[in-house]
Amino acid sequence: MRIDDIVNLAKRRGFIAQSSEIYGGFSSSYDYGPLGVELKNSVKSAWWNDMVYAGRNVLGLDAAILMNPKTWEASGHLGAGFADPLVECISCHRRFRKDQLKKESCPDCDGKLTKERKFNLMMKTFVGPVEDAASETYLRAETAQGIYLNFPWILESMRLKPPFGLAQIGKAFRNEITPGNFTYRMREFEQMEMQWFFLPAGATGSAKHWFEHWREQRLRWYLNLGIKKGNLRFHEHKKEELAHYAKRAADIQYRFPEPLGWQEIEGIHYRGDWDLSNHAKYSGRDLSYFDSEKKKKCIPHVMETSAGADRAVLVFLIDAYEKIAGGRTITTQSAKEEEIILRLHPALSPVKVAVLPLVKNKPRLVELAQKIYEELRTEINGLVQYDESGTIGRRYRRQDEIGTPFCITVDFESLEKDGVTVRDRDTMKQERIETGGLADYLTKKLET
Ligand code: ATP
Repeated sequence: MRIDDIVNLAKRRGFIAQSSEIYGGFSSSYDYGPLGVELKNSVKSAWWNDMVYAGRNVLGLDAAILMNPKTWEASGHLGAGFADPLVECISCHRRFRKDQLKKESCPDCDGKLTKERKFNLMMKTFVGPVEDAASETYLRAETAQGIYLNFPWILESMRLKPPFGLAQIGKAFRNEITPGNFTYRMREFEQMEMQWFFLPAGATGSAKHWFEHWREQRLRWYLNLGIKKGNLRFHEHKKEELAHYAKRAADIQYRFPEPLGWQEIEGIHYRGDWDLSNHAKYSGRDLSYFDSEKKKKCIPHVMETSAGADRAVLVFLIDAYEKIAGGRTITTQSAKEEEIILRLHPALSPVKVAVLPLVKNKPRLVELAQKIYEELRTEINGLVQYDESGTIGRRYRRQDEIGTPFCITVDFESLEKDGVTVRDRDTMKQERIETGGLADYLTKKLET
């Protein structure tokens, strides 16, 4: 498969499309449609459930995107550490990231490239009615800083004691030199970040322990949501690859279709006391924790798990995508077409259940199907769809293509004897279920 298969499916079926399309689009900006937003919300809530509700001593936060610009001086993001090596082709004037080029000349026209210069990725903006240096600030480049700035407030108001974590989901902005590969690299994207504060010399675990712990936990999250094991791996950073704040880092990489290949989808970073110490220095505020056992103050260290919500959505789509040549739904006219199945984990499927009357020209059948649809709509947690147009085979295919785990078919037998058919997307098995127990049956199935 190719990324283009996903791009086409995403556009055709209301998942993701180019932003501002009627104006010719806007470079590397994408919008999530009705099914895309369901999928993305499910990814984010699966992450939140796992981080915040699973008893890991992690609490949530939602900090502002616009912050005091001193934040970014202290964090090092305004310096060379958060800049990419930019080169320009002297013939066609296209710009590239030097570290992403495979050869020494322009990949487009083979022209000569300029010497590299550092290009800072922070997106500048102005606040207030005057556009001068005093009103300059930045759109945040990572959600993490909002967590560090709130560390003393949350420590006190929530009476926390390290080790504990703070989790946040939100937009981040980077003026990437070469965005691309659909939603893989955009200038506006969403992160799911968790900062774990711990005392490095404490009895509650060393940096090595927490690094390994969070690395494994995060890998397991992708596996539990159905990503194939062979498509995930760790990449530990060598010293020269480390970001300016990191003492140690490992990426979780996913095997994207060629030519992208293995690429980062999440980073696990040991940030030491870099952020809290620098913010203490720049703000003049005491950001230490008083360890009542040791009777002394110390600055906690941070283990960060930093995932991209958009990259995760892309990976779930790619991993779930299966094309079956010749099709598998046996209906005479459509049997020979290729069929697409999105084998999404039910927790992520945008539509949980589809209700389909076998035919649309039998009023009693349609009436019963609509009644079942109305009931399920209130009882199932998530989207339930009603579809009566086209042959039943086509409708199954439509649902398979968007990853709906269960289709309910209301047929002539349903009019004689209480019961409907529940079709499983993956096994295609059909089970007869009485309507009274249908919502419970589906809810249980959707939870597993
Ligand atoms: P890369 O090397 O791909 O530029 P990074 O190492 O700069 O990524 P981090 O700063 O560690 O990325 O950000 C954490 C996560 O945020 C990444 O693993 C990715 O999932 C997501 N992310 C970062 N930049 C982008 C982007 N431009 N578009 C979409 N997601 C992004």
